[in-house]
Amino acid sequence: MTARIIDGKALATRLRAGVAERAAALRAAGREPALAVILVGSDPASQVYVRNKIAACEQAGIRSLHFEFDSGLREAELLARIHALNHDDAVHGILVQLPLPAHIDAQRVIEAISPRKDVDGFHVASAGALMVGQPGFRPCTPLGCVRMLEDIGLADLRGRHAVVVGRSNIVGKPMALMLLGMNATVTIAHSGTPDLADTCRRADVLVAAVGRPRMIRGDMIKPGAAVIDVGINRLDDGKLCGDVDFAGASEVADWITPVPGGVGPMTIAMLLSNTVQACEQA
Ligand code: NDP
Repeated sequence: MTARIIDGKALATRLRAGVAERAAALRAAGREPALAVILVGSDPASQVYVRNKIAACEQAGIRSLHFEFDSGLREAELLARIHALNHDDAVHGILVQLPLPAHIDAQRVIEAISPRKDVDGFHVASAGALMVGQPGFRPCTPLGCVRMLEDIGLADLRGRHAVVVGRSNIVGKPMALMLLGMNATVTIAHSGTPDLADTCRRADVLVAAVGRPRMIRGDMIKPGAAVIDVGINRLDDGKLCGDVDFAGASEVADWITPVPGGVGPMTIAMLLSNTVQACEQA
């Protein structure tokens, strides 16, 4: 079997067109959706992510406000900036690019963002809302994975087994809860899971978000599975690869996301969608 590609780039383009229409309707009604993006320090990867997010906002008709601070910024100053943005009615979403320098408590910073403007969905109130199935902003990466599954006809996973490899607060854990909400039977695994291969082989839907290059091999995939590869790993030769061995997995899976061009573009599309939603709800 040669797996069909889940083209995240193409789906993201379609979804971004829909977001742009919603943004245009808001602007026509005199409300311009706006996202504040905060970057602390000069991590090159973070700079690229922030640039991409700002460019995506512009294309979608979302105003972006860009705040850049050097890595010596005091936590209190960052909290004061967030406080001011919370009270600025012209700003609908606030995004603090992670990671933050070690002297800043990232969780405290996230908790300072108003849940109404928490378009990344990382606030404990957003995480709690996901846990109990209440409305709230969902983290962009797992939300993008859900949209991809829906697009290939896997909106209802009743009777199916989903395995998430990875347990971070921003991808692995919320992903597992979202799959549960789609009626899947869910297992959360991680790099230390005994018999990881056996666990993965039970998955009708396998989401890899463990941050280890090509850790998920073809022989760990159930024939006919849908494989979502969240991982973005830079190899020594400068190339990007996912957490899944794409070549090996493609021979076994029915569906698979490429890296790059899979989950990454969907994450940005979901950020734009959440920002427009924040403006619609303001
Ligand atoms: P993390 O590095 O935060 O998580 C990966 C692993 O770190 C986990 O599986 C676990 O390790 C450990 N870990 C992290 N948080 C916790 C926690 N709260 N408790 C216990 N263990 C924890 O990575 P992310 O989840 O942010 O990302 C995973 C991969 O996806 C990376 O390659 C990243 O680059 C990529 N990514 C891609 C995005 C996209 O848009 N495509 C967006 C975000 C991330 P272990 O399994 O070893 O126990």
